[in-house]
Amino acid sequence: MTEVAALSVARTLDRCTVLGPGARAVIWVQGCPLRCRGCVAAETLPFEGGTTHEVSELADWLCELPGIEGVTLSGGEPFAQASALAALLDHVRSRRPEFTAMAYSGFRYETLRRGEWDRRALLRRLDLLVDGPYVASAQHGLRWRGSANQRVIALTDRYAHVATEPDRSAGVEVSMEADGSLSWAGVPPTPGFREGLEERLAARGFVLRAEARREA
Ligand code: SF4
Repeated sequence: MTEVAALSVARTLDRCTVLGPGARAVIWVQGCPLRCRGCVAAETLPFEGGTTHEVSELADWLCELPGIEGVTLSGGEPFAQASALAALLDHVRSRRPEFTAMAYSGFRYETLRRGEWDRRALLRRLDLLVDGPYVASAQHGLRWRGSANQRVIALTDRYAHVATEPDRSAGVEVSMEADGSLSWAGVPPTPGFREGLEERLAARGFVLRAEARREA
């Protein structure tokens, strides 16, 4: 595999319990070629504007994080930077073989499976995939995903059990950053959630970081 050495990243989070099984780090990549109506992460859609991180730098960060079982790749569209993310997972697993990987994609699994080599390479390295575009009219407070057309697909037996667990919203988490600013992560349980949350916090004098987010 031709290794891409850097990733354009919108945001990272050391620990999150609402975007996949257990406690996980999260990487939100910058840039998505799709434009789902009602996307709650509009700031991650342009391919310009992210922060460039070396794959080796991100691998070191993930390997040194205590108390997490894996990483969730979100965005933006992770499969738009598939080669670099596949390389990242290889770097991490060479040091933490048990490390799990989950990814969101606006593309359906069947499309990714028939897609370019780099997308298939990333797919082969994932334990869990949430696939398909966000459809606001199909939002029903589901676990880890925004709308009912999206599927949680176990690609290895590491997370085969999730299919039998209750399918209800995992909620969102609000974090305070080192500089005192607030951000949130998770899948909004209802349309318009982000706007409501920002208004309620603003009314109490709190301002969310511009890149605070979720996933589709
Ligand atoms: S919901 Fe996801 S796939 Fe759709 S436009 Fe937003 S980031 Fe892209």
